[in-house]
Amino acid sequence: MITVGCQRTIARPALIRGAGLHSGAPAAARLLPAPAGAGIAFLRTDVAGATPIPARLEEVAATARSVVLGGSVRVATVEHLMSASYGLGIENLLVEVEGEELPCGDGSALIFVEALEAAGSVDQDAPRAPIVLEEPVWASEGGSMIAALPAGQFQVTYVVTADAASMAPQMAEFREGVDDFAASIAPARTWGMAAEIEALHAQGMARGVSLETVLAIGPDGFLNEPRFPNEMARHKILDAIGDLALLGRPVRAHIVAVRAGHGLHVALAREIARRFGDGRDARGGQHVGY
Ligand SMILES: [Zn+2]
Repeated sequence: MITVGCQRTIARPALIRGAGLHSGAPAAARLLPAPAGAGIAFLRTDVAGATPIPARLEEVAATARSVVLGGSVRVATVEHLMSASYGLGIENLLVEVEGEELPCGDGSALIFVEALEAAGSVDQDAPRAPIVLEEPVWASEGGSMIAALPAGQFQVTYVVTADAASMAPQMAEFREGVDDFAASIAPARTWGMAAEIEALHAQGMARGVSLETVLAIGPDGFLNEPRFPNEMARHKILDAIGDLALLGRPVRAHIVAVRAGHGLHVALAREIARRFGDGRDARGGQHVGY
């Protein structure tokens, strides 16, 4: 998420194929350039008469296991592509999706980073307009919280715990302009408790989830080899960046999260939009109406 400079899109189209993480069904996404100010939008090419679904907070339909956008026509598991595009500083894209879910690759954002890098990028004739926080905002639920603190640049600090006695809490940090998103955040995979994955499989869910697509945690530790000692916390940063990207503008803030998830990430983004976004309220503007 780059908060300075001009907007960017890709130089040429890119095609991504794979399977959906939750559906397990074949999935394909075609990335296309989009004009300055367009933002990111998803178009279901397998649904006759479908119109583009803007990747905006107003379009969030579900956040339970992945982020689902849209109304009667939906697109699921958008968060890793959203994270990759913002991590690489590409804010304008049209994504044609064949199927109800984006391909998952290896459960990280690498499949999208590789496609975006192969597509190249072009600077556009429009400046970025970051959201600047004037005071802290936060969201919490049970033992989970997330806050956005005023800062000169974008930064995320994340603490996670897994429900396994063998697993120590993990922390990770990402700082705009200091850390390399493609190297330090994008390779971190989706993770889950092996017992929960088995229960989902028994219900016919999470069909694309295997040791090839997630970092699985058993009673005695990881069932496959972690890519980083704190891969779980790094993946949470990946998710948080993708969810904050639904603001449609970069945000200059230090995000601090403890045991949060998509629901709280989106709740924080909505609060940032309400207080400091285009339609700010309580400070002389109108309510955004989320
Ligand atoms: Zn994720």
